[in-house]
Amino acid sequence: MNYKMDYNNIFFKINTSLNKIKDHGKVASYIPELNNIDPNKFGVHLTTLNNEHYSIGDSNEKFSIQSIAKVLALTLAYKMKGEKLWKRIDVEPSGTSFNSLVQLEYNHGIPRNPLINAGAIVICDILISNLENPKKDFLEFIRELSGNKTLNFSSKTAESEKITGFTNMALVNLMKSFNNIKNDIDVVMDFYFNLCSIEMTCKELSRTFLFLTNDGIDPITNNKILSESKSKRINAIMLLCGFYDEAGEFAFKVGLPGKSGVGGGIVAIHPNKYSIAVWSPRLNKKGNSQKGMNFLEKFTTKTQSSIF
Ligand code: GLN
Repeated sequence: MNYKMDYNNIFFKINTSLNKIKDHGKVASYIPELNNIDPNKFGVHLTTLNNEHYSIGDSNEKFSIQSIAKVLALTLAYKMKGEKLWKRIDVEPSGTSFNSLVQLEYNHGIPRNPLINAGAIVICDILISNLENPKKDFLEFIRELSGNKTLNFSSKTAESEKITGFTNMALVNLMKSFNNIKNDIDVVMDFYFNLCSIEMTCKELSRTFLFLTNDGIDPITNNKILSESKSKRINAIMLLCGFYDEAGEFAFKVGLPGKSGVGGGIVAIHPNKYSIAVWSPRLNKKGNSQKGMNFLEKFTTKTQSSIF
């Protein structure tokens, strides 16, 4: 099959078949700002390693990337601190929901992995300790990765999340009690809530993640973002931990490393081939985009492009 010719057509056919399904789940309402999004939005953008582009629907509309940003925070922290990172965070799938507290107590404040909320909060703490102007420097990093100098946090979403962020505050307090948070908890959570509030389009998201399809090298600028080994390891973490207690299901049905966010976005990587971003705000019970998962399942099946 000639993938180059067929992606747009395949997108169209899959979308037509998915539109027959009535129930795609519910928009995240625990962050008031996310509840204002039109639940029927839907977009897909695929960028190949050769910088070819394929898309459908609302692929050029910005949305809150939420937990997808955890991979970018991990990338910067891993780049700066190397393997020392794993003294403070494990690399095991959690099998629990994204904001679960339960494993932290018996793991003495060490989160199971960097892609659940607890792990991402520790990564934020590490970035704050190591960056001169944490929020500004982080933004600079993702602007460079995305090739878009205007990317930004959404202060509205960050504020909205702060107001209802009781579970996240519980997580940071518990980890602080185990001495796994070094900075002031309000400073750490301000960084975390802003991290989650970053807005991108599907096109920007798929472009931003291209370095993970190419052994850590951005194929467009040729910049080395990460070593080959670190890039491989981030892909491994995404495969095992990118969808919380649904990581198994995603590997089983889609078969690609990826990461979801409660804004309804999913980004998935096919090493050496493409990066694909999907956005549909309605979530299933595990907090992952229902239509997004269904779309990717059909896509990797039709194109025979799961990694397995
Ligand atoms: N900002 C969200 C939270 O902390 C991120 C969760 C997610 O996208 N799964 O609850």
